[in-house]
Amino acid sequence: MGEKLALGLDLGGTNITGALATSEGKIAAITRRKTQASRGSGPVIEDMAEMVEHLIASQGISRDDVIGLGVGAPGPLSHRDGIIFKMANLPGWTNVRLRRALLERTGLPTILDNDANVAAFGEFWMGAGKGVRQMVALTLGTGIGSGVIIDGEILRGHFENAAELGHLIVHARGRPCTCGQRGCLEQYASAANLTRHCVELIREGRESSLSAILEKGGELGAKEVVEAAKEGDPLAAEVWDEACYFLAIGCINVQHSFNPQMLVLSGGMSKAGDFLLSRVRRYAREHGWKLCDDQPEISISVLGDDAGVLGAAGIAWAARNSGVFG
Ligand SMILES: [Zn+2]
Repeated sequence: MGEKLALGLDLGGTNITGALATSEGKIAAITRRKTQASRGSGPVIEDMAEMVEHLIASQGISRDDVIGLGVGAPGPLSHRDGIIFKMANLPGWTNVRLRRALLERTGLPTILDNDANVAAFGEFWMGAGKGVRQMVALTLGTGIGSGVIIDGEILRGHFENAAELGHLIVHARGRPCTCGQRGCLEQYASAANLTRHCVELIREGRESSLSAILEKGGELGAKEVVEAAKEGDPLAAEVWDEACYFLAIGCINVQHSFNPQMLVLSGGMSKAGDFLLSRVRRYAREHGWKLCDDQPEISISVLGDDAGVLGAAGIAWAARNSGVFG
């Protein structure tokens, strides 16, 4: 019998990723398949169980060599009860007992958590936050997902809704958010809103090199906005700068809430690298408090898309080490 491994599954609207990882976070095997979400929860769960079987078989090991299964999934969900309440982008997932279903099909002790928490745990365990004990991760995508790690553990809160930092209010009476609030961080600093804001301004008659892309019926994404901003397009530069400013305001609020050592930025917008980081750091310094010099380090994810699946294996190891798996 070889080294023990943990299984991680990252369920997304587009892909399901599965991996086997050692206790040191080394990936022994990784696999990916399309979610085919329109089929509803049953067939997707069958696919997940099948991926578990394939991964175990691919390494020529037995179920006894696997300490357990960690699963990251979009929510809202209950980690405590292992239930998915609903998924915004996947139909047919109302009150699904995912943890029990996977335990029954795979025979492995299973733990479920929110995908953003799991990705944050991945960065904490093996990524940008390796060696850090207090860390916050923000994923800048369609919205802003986030996870908070306190003393090496995921913060969940009493109602299991802690760390919804995309809905920090950074602009009171600002833009309405899909959540019912106004002025949420994700309305200002997510990749989707970056492009939406550019399109709005162009439709209002502002000139921009980006209008050529729209006229051709092309997709306008964060990448195009960043490229145009770098080339000096005034509108793209203005919108990018505003996103960086509001992100910095969000980071300041995060600092006051959790006092982390590190803030890790990931997702589409983080691919801008230093073009993002230098501005966010500057605005955070300029607008942050001046009462002490200790500021969290703001950095970029090093695991990228693998943070979720590695974090899923990581929460399985953490569950095992803290006795949750018995
Ligand atoms: Zn909101």
